[in-house]
Amino acid sequence: MRYSVLTLFPDAVLPYTHTSIVGKACDKGLITVEAINPRDFTANKHRKVDDTPYGGGPGMVMAAQPLVDAYESLLALAEPSITLLTSPGGRPLTDGWARKLASLQHIVILCGHYEGMDARVHDCIPNVHEVSIGDFVLTGGELAALCVIDAVSRFIPGVVQKTESVDGDSHSATDIYPKGLLEHPHYTRPETFRGYPVPEVLLSGNHAAIAAWRHQQALDKTRRIRPDLLP
Ligand code: SAH
Repeated sequence: MRYSVLTLFPDAVLPYTHTSIVGKACDKGLITVEAINPRDFTANKHRKVDDTPYGGGPGMVMAAQPLVDAYESLLALAEPSITLLTSPGGRPLTDGWARKLASLQHIVILCGHYEGMDARVHDCIPNVHEVSIGDFVLTGGELAALCVIDAVSRFIPGVVQKTESVDGDSHSATDIYPKGLLEHPHYTRPETFRGYPVPEVLLSGNHAAIAAWRHQQALDKTRRIRPDLLP
């Protein structure tokens, strides 16, 4: 998978992609992440990337030209599989969408800043979809881009050691629970920590009883915290 992130702040994106599981996926050549700065594509001599909004109002708007030209610089070889425009008004990023995106070859992610982007960026780029990482507003799209890269990469074979570890995670859809459940709690050594023992059943070696306990825990937690996920 190739990710191309269009951002005014490459330094906010690239260090994370050299870290931990995503970093290892880069080292193994399973993914590549590049940052392209729209400021390098400005057509004005002051390299200005934003301007005041038509119609008035507070804040600055990212101009369309540097973003669209930066996007078009990627077209020399082939059209990207999809372009994601980060926005609090976008389609929510879910586990299911991340799984589907993981089968693509090349994802372009556009990061806004300030008040957002000129709406004509959307008009000029084919196969573009707005993506939101939640019902809150960030100051820029860089963290959203990283969320997409991280959540999608987990589903690329070889990125996470064991595939069953992603399939059993919170939000993984099953036939009975199409929106997934929240995962059961985990415990590791020691057996007692600050007076809190590990639940007996996990020490029993009885795999069926452990599976049943974990499922019940997942169900209870989902009912308590995210009843909206239950069918
Ligand atoms: N004025 C806009 C918010 C702009 S926030 C509005 O009210 O909708 C600046 C940039 O941060 C956005 O262009 C987008 O790239 C990013 N951003 C903010 N919140 C986000 C979210 N929840 N999901 C994805 N991107 C977000």
